[in-house]
Amino acid sequence: MKIIDFHVHGGDFKLLRDDIQELLTRKPMESGVKVREVFSEPEQMENYLQDKGVYRAVLLAECGPGTNYTIDSELIVNLAQSKDIFIPFGNINPNYHDTKKEFWKSVKLGVKGFKFYPADHGFDPLTEDMQYVYKMCETLGFPVMFHTGLTAQRDTEQKFIKPFDFRPLAEKYPELIMILAHGGKPYWYEEASTLALTFPNVYIDTALIDPLSLQEAFPNLEKLAPKIVFGSDWPVVGSYSALLENYTKANIASEIVTAIFYGNAERILKEALDKQSKTTPETVLI
Ligand SMILES: [Zn+2]
Repeated sequence: MKIIDFHVHGGDFKLLRDDIQELLTRKPMESGVKVREVFSEPEQMENYLQDKGVYRAVLLAECGPGTNYTIDSELIVNLAQSKDIFIPFGNINPNYHDTKKEFWKSVKLGVKGFKFYPADHGFDPLTEDMQYVYKMCETLGFPVMFHTGLTAQRDTEQKFIKPFDFRPLAEKYPELIMILAHGGKPYWYEEASTLALTFPNVYIDTALIDPLSLQEAFPNLEKLAPKIVFGSDWPVVGSYSALLENYTKANIASEIVTAIFYGNAERILKEALDKQSKTTPETVLI
């Protein structure tokens, strides 16, 4: 099966905080797969993913306490470099970065979108500095992904995790492509579904949603299918092969599977990359 994976993590394993190292090794991998190495070596990760049928993978930065502030936009762009499979998404943590400066730095480095972690990084996603970033992302064609749903990181308040927390942004920036990672797992699938069906610019990714419960989480899966993209959340998810096997077992109609695994993501990324190539940061700055 041809796959675009919208949600993959990589970085430098040894620099991660202990609980995150534990999180990334909790679920079993395929035998012989050394997660520490695959996570840290782009060539190994590319081989691992391609072997599973992955054609493109969005590689996500995460510059926060759990990663000891090491997985920033720069590291992700460097990992993605020279590997066609990877599409680097940067990160800004307003509690750590100068938001606007880090935004422009990330753009110049060559990120193709952003992922933000209001829950894990403890910030209100509606602050003025962040609104500047969303406006720029909308204008320049950068898709934006938000973590939604409970967070597994320690010392977090479980705030800014509900899909409806992001509703004002979906309304205010109709051209901003927004992806609600995890669809609000495990309690707020309905909120995510409502937003995705109400706003043409809002999507859901399947990261860490058990394929066998996907139809239960989204009873209106057929209607929602054009608004869902596949995300593995590897390596948190564990064995990629087991994940794909569960999709096979889940008995989801093949047109829906194709849309989720490939069609929707291809459309989103193509439109975003086209827009990015036509809109230079310089024209926006003037
Ligand atoms: Zn993730």
